[in-house]
Amino acid sequence: MEAHLPNWLTSLSVIAVLLAPFVGSFLGVLVRRLPDGRPVALSRSACESCGHVLGARDLVPLASYAWLRGRCRFCAARIAPAHPAIELASLAVALIAVIVDGADEPRMWAGCVLGWMLLALAWIDWTHMRLPDVLTLPLVLMGLAATWVLDPDAIADHAAAAALGYLAFRLIAAAYRWRRGREGLGQGDAKLLAAAGAWVGLADLPGVMLGGAIIGLLVVGARWLRGERVGGGTVLPFGPCLAAATWLVWLGLRLA
Ligand SMILES: [Zn+2]
Repeated sequence: MEAHLPNWLTSLSVIAVLLAPFVGSFLGVLVRRLPDGRPVALSRSACESCGHVLGARDLVPLASYAWLRGRCRFCAARIAPAHPAIELASLAVALIAVIVDGADEPRMWAGCVLGWMLLALAWIDWTHMRLPDVLTLPLVLMGLAATWVLDPDAIADHAAAAALGYLAFRLIAAAYRWRRGREGLGQGDAKLLAAAGAWVGLADLPGVMLGGAIIGLLVVGARWLRGERVGGGTVLPFGPCLAAATWLVWLGLRLA
């Protein structure tokens, strides 16, 4: 019987997938509260319209939204679709990590954590145009810790990649400022690229930078096709592009 199951389908991979919507629910709270400086933990979830403290049956990821038809049980205000969206995205991250790496459980968990952190960072940068240090800096350390566990010989390489990623981005930002006379790239992007380096290592750092640039151009192209005016003054958060490229390179290392 066991022989007929795909090798990524293990009890731990099932747990990761079942856990994912709950992680997504927490990420939903995180991405809404963190940029406003509100406490993320230690406060009960409440309706954002009527302030009614929500009970367990209002907080089941995905299911509550479907069950309540997207409205608060107390005041019938619409629940922001961002909540089920980030829960679904979190589930997608776990499913992809499990399918790619389910047979290698430590790497699968590392992939889930990386994907969830990148999801939160991309979301906050998209909505608030910034990448908080409280997420980027731990992500650097997590990348080094994951390397320590998964491939201890590569720790120096990954630490060098983190430093190089940071410096490379600061150099590009300085060149841009000198050329255009204004800030084009944030310091948060440099720290995110440092985190990417810590996770993927020196050999794959250029792939992350190239991938981020290509995804950025695709986003600009898509906005141009939708009839938006896009030019040198257009403000585009680069974090989501860099996050997507980091995730793809991390997965690609496995598939290659
Ligand atoms: Zn309400």
